[in-house]
Order: sequence, then C-alpha cells, then structure tokens
Amino acid sequence: MALIVQKYGGTSVGTTERIRSVARRILDTQRAGNGVIAVVSAMSGVTNRLIELASEVSPDHQPTEREMDVLLATGEQTTIALTAMAINQMGGKAISLTGEQAGIVTDTSHTRARISDIDPAEVHRLLGGGHIVILAGFQGKSREGRITTLGRGGSDLTAIAMAAAAGADLCQIFTDVDGVYTCDPRVVPGARKIDEIAYDEMLEMASSGTKVMQSRSVEFAKKYGVRFEVRNSMNDKPGTIVTEEHPNMEAVVVRGVSIEREQAKVTIENVPDEPGVAAGIFQAIAEAGVIIDMIVQNVSKTGKTDISFTLHRLDLKKAEDTLRPIVEGLGDPVFVETTDGIAKLSVVGIGMRSHSGVAAHMFAALAKDGINIQMISTSEIKTAVTIDEAQIEKAANVVHSAFEL
Ligand code: ADP
Ligand code: ASP
Ligand code: MG
Repeated sequence: MALIVQKYGGTSVGTTERIRSVARRILDTQRAGNGVIAVVSAMSGVTNRLIELASEVSPDHQPTEREMDVLLATGEQTTIALTAMAINQMGGKAISLTGEQAGIVTDTSHTRARISDIDPAEVHRLLGGGHIVILAGFQGKSREGRITTLGRGGSDLTAIAMAAAAGADLCQIFTDVDGVYTCDPRVVPGARKIDEIAYDEMLEMASSGTKVMQSRSVEFAKKYGVRFEVRNSMNDKPGTIVTEEHPNMEAVVVRGVSIEREQAKVTIENVPDEPGVAAGIFQAIAEAGVIIDMIVQNVSKTGKTDISFTLHRLDLKKAEDTLRPIVEGLGDPVFVETTDGIAKLSVVGIGMRSHSGVAAHMFAALAKDGINIQMISTSEIKTAVTIDEAQIEKAANVVHSAFEL
C-alpha cells in the first residue's frame, strides 16, 4: 500500500460542490489501494476575508499576531470538517485533524511560523485503522501551546512537511491550473505547462513571484528530498514534477518567467561612502521587520554614493519612518526618495549557469518594446529587472516570446 499526501488549495475547495468533488477524488485514491492524507486550505477568499474582519474590529491598532493566528487558523478548520463530512457521506471513513492534533510543532513566529518538528504518530494510527486523514493546512502549535500559522500559501508547506515526516511515497499539490507554467497563464496566454522542473528553479520562481507554490515549501522539499507533483484538481492531466536536477535539465536555458507586482523602491542619495554606513541602514531596516529584495549601490566619485533597494509597497511607510532618524545622523544633505508602482520581472533557469547572453537577450527584447529597466539583479540561475508596473504584462509577454518558451 502506497501512502499519498494530496493538497487541495483554496479554489479547489472554494464551494461545497468543489469540496464534494475533492472528496470523491480523495476517496477514489484510497479505494485504489492507497493510504491518503489530504491537506486542505481555507475556501478561496476566506483567509482574506478574515484579515479584513480583523482590521474592521481593530482599525487603529495592528491586532496582535497571536490573535491573528487564532483567527486565521479557523479558515482551514472549516474546510477539514466539511471535507471529512463529504467523504463520510459518500460511504468513506475520514477524520479531520488540526495542525496541532496532527503533531505539527512550530516556533513562535506568529503568522510566519517555521515547522520545528512533526510527530506523525496520530496520523499513522488513523491510517492504520483504515481512515483517510484530512489535515488542516497552514497551521501548527508552538511549544508554548499557541496556535500558529505558516505564512500565506502555507498549506503547501504543511503538505510537503507531512509527506517527509510520514514517509509518503507520493506528494501531489492540487491547484486550479494544470501545473507550473513557463509564466502565469493568466498573464501570458501562450504559457506552456512545464513537465519537469528542478527544485532550484522552482525555488527561484516561487521567491520571485510565481505564487503557484509557496517558496518556503519548495525550500523544505529540496532540503528533505521530497519529490512532488503540481496538478489540476479539476481534471486528470499529468502535472509538473518538481525534483532533483539532472544533466538533461541544463539544456534548457530559461525554464520560466516570473512577475512580482506591488513593489516599491527607496533611494538614499548622497550617502557618505564609508565602512559601516550601509550596515547601519540595513540593520535598522531588518530590525523593523521589513523584507528587502534588490540592493544597488552606485560607484562613488566624490566620497558620496547612492543606495537603492526594493521592497513590498505595503512596507514603504515603515521603511521611510525607520530611515528618517538614521539619515539625519549621516549629516546633510542626504535625501531619501521613494517610488511605488514598480514590478519585478525575472527569467529563471539552471541552464543559465552554462550559457551566456541571457541578460543581453532579455534587455534587448524589453528595449525593442520601449520598456525601460530601472534596476537589475542576477544570481547564478536568475536575471531580474524592475520596471514600471503598468508595463509588466506586456513585458512578461515580450520576454516570454523572446526566449521562445
Ligand atoms: P492554491 O489556492 O491552489 O494554492 P494559488 O492561487 O496559490 O493556488 O496558485 C495557483 C495560481 O498561481 C494559478 O491560478 C496561477 O494564476 C498562479 N500562477 C502564477 N504563476 C504561475 C505559473 N508560472 N504557473 C502556474 N500558475 C501560476
Ligand atoms: N489559507 C492560507 C492562505 O490563503 C494558506 C493557503 O491557502 O495555503 O494563504
Ligand atoms: Mg497557494
């Protein structure tokens, strides 16, 4: 008997009708002779709605993260019960478990907790009794006994971590598209489903805006060697296998294109070009809990330089408030300039390690369509640029066809 972990995302369980069709698929998988752990997300829109409710009752204060987690975990708790009920109605034997009941222990970083341990004993006991286990995604319990959540998209992480802990033979991530595409199919209509992708490529794509997989879940899968498949919950087509890289994969230079909207840029001009200045700036930003992405520093000609970095639009105010006192301490005139309405476009592929000219080709394609590049950053397997957000869809299509994806 094989043990299969299946994860169903928000759209796949978005209505009671969809829950019934997911229940049918889960039951069929068990009846084909497998043990099944099904991880489910909150019904689509529910997590966002809970966040709105929190700001309605607490318009002036950020609610405590502890209470946010108590609230957010209810979304998944609704779905596990409904899914188990639907399976039982069909004559199956299902039991729902919250993250805590399934032995998922996390640290106490509320709203973005990390899994520190999973004890799958209860899950194995139920499977051994012929039950289907319906597990709440996105949540766990800290050692202090508090409810925690694993960051947006965190049900992917629950599925992958449980697959590793329970020793599953197969991990399937069911979503609302046929697999991982060469670019978001809602943005680039000509995007193609990728049959196989390496962990590092999936990780770079996920962390540069391809939200089909949560990036931390891919990191976890790579670390523990969990091979998984991304596929459609509404049909039976084979999906995308995410796995260890192998030599044939290097033949493809660019595997996919990612876009990330709602970015912003901070530029600090006329900064003294001395050791410790950048450290002071970025330490303060980090302490404020602001996550930054690209950093660019100009060559200094007169003992002064400019530093720019990108961040999420929603963190711009916090970054500005943090920087004000620091910049005042640097003597004048140091200016802070902020811009939003920026988006990031990245091309990713492990073949970039052994091929040159990717950046030139990408930049030429953008230039031909009059799209101006603001910032550039590269890694061994990624070239990324920021551009005006209004042009991001056009840019994604242009770059996608330039690489003949
Ligand atoms: P789920 O609710 O199943 O977790 P998500 O909404 O998190 O689903 O992720 C699926 C969505 O990711 C798709 O509907 C698609 O629009 C988007 N997406 C973005 N980039 C890609 C890509 N390269 N391949 C597939 N889907 C993508
Ligand atoms: N419900 C959570 C979210 O919307 C977790 C998930 O769907 O993976 O982010
Ligand atoms: Mg998701």
